[in-house]
Amino acid sequence: MTATVGAASNHPVVPFVDLHPMNAEVAEELDRTWRYAIETSGFIAGPAVERFEHEWARFCGTTEAVGTANGTDALTLALRALGVGDGDEDILPANTFIATAEAVALAGAAPRFADVDPRTLLLTPETITAAMGPRTAAIIVVHLYGQMPDMDAIGGLAASRGLVLVEDAAQAHGATWSGRKAGSFGRAGCFSFYPGKNLGALGDAGAVVTNDPSLARTVRAMANHGRWGSHHEHRLVGTNSRLDAVQAGALQAKLARLDQWNEGRRRASRLYDERLRALSGSVGLPRQLQGSRGVRHLYVVEVDDRDAVRRELGRRGVQTGVHYPVPCHRHQAFSRFAVEPLPVSERAADRLLSLPMFPHISPSQIERVCTELAVVVRKDKARNRG
Ligand SMILES: *Cc1c(COP(=O)(O)O)cnc(C)c1O
Repeated sequence: MTATVGAASNHPVVPFVDLHPMNAEVAEELDRTWRYAIETSGFIAGPAVERFEHEWARFCGTTEAVGTANGTDALTLALRALGVGDGDEDILPANTFIATAEAVALAGAAPRFADVDPRTLLLTPETITAAMGPRTAAIIVVHLYGQMPDMDAIGGLAASRGLVLVEDAAQAHGATWSGRKAGSFGRAGCFSFYPGKNLGALGDAGAVVTNDPSLARTVRAMANHGRWGSHHEHRLVGTNSRLDAVQAGALQAKLARLDQWNEGRRRASRLYDERLRALSGSVGLPRQLQGSRGVRHLYVVEVDDRDAVRRELGRRGVQTGVHYPVPCHRHQAFSRFAVEPLPVSERAADRLLSLPMFPHISPSQIERVCTELAVVVRKDKARNRG
């Protein structure tokens, strides 16, 4: 059953994302996971969670991984456990999912928004330095769209200023900088396993990875009501943010295929790059730094008249997304932390357009997206001239 559009095209719709082929590949394992949980009545913690945590740490090249209920909690708990909260300022990019900013605020710190590089849309040592002040305690890098910034330079900057480096790797499962995995550079690396992420659960889930066993222990305690040692000893003010056994089992099954699925995304990106180069006058293409091997969580281009282009693509059966239409510091919830204009983030927010991207997207679907995009931007240009 494929949806088709009437007026503008009789081709099937190209979805923005399609999770079915991934879940179909692991259908048997998912069934086993449910059955095991029901048969053992083991829904929270237990061997499935331990196994996945072990494998996830190994995948990331860290010694520790602690499962959490979602990625926002992973960030919040990591920041709390690192003690970069009350009275501190934590630097983060303005163009990220709102959760990065929420975590900073929930940990008790003031988010200090930094601008980004216009080509990569990622933090740079320069944009971070511009946002530094006397109360700066931490830098939170976001590997937006699955691409990593220059982690040697940013790691060096954090070390030289005595700042805590944390990675929001929620879009970057398996991405590398100089061959080293996302999540393994900071004091803590934070992941989301929201279903649409490169590694997605059957609901909400997340994790913190680190090479610091004592930090891992604190995060684990905080995620489990502050329990320390025994069930009835609550040493910290914690919360309930545990990874469920069913989610861990599903993640374990999918982890075995993550590299292959990321390769599917890279293949799709290369096709987009090749095909869209011809439109370079009107479509800005994503760029990654030498040294970064991204995992293409999203394929994001820049266009004039983004909303009009998006509407017309939709009419022609090409579904798209926007990540993100409003930079964090322009949202009401965070506007009191906006201290200066951040022109690159603000301009990008009006121009960004996320094209269909998922591991199983076919070359003909990509061809179709590019053909429709070419027609739409050409029409849009002609209209603006006329
Ligand atoms: C998805 C995401 C998060 C939050 O993860 P949840 O699991 O949805 O709480 C945080 N940061 C970024 C960059 C994300 O994309």
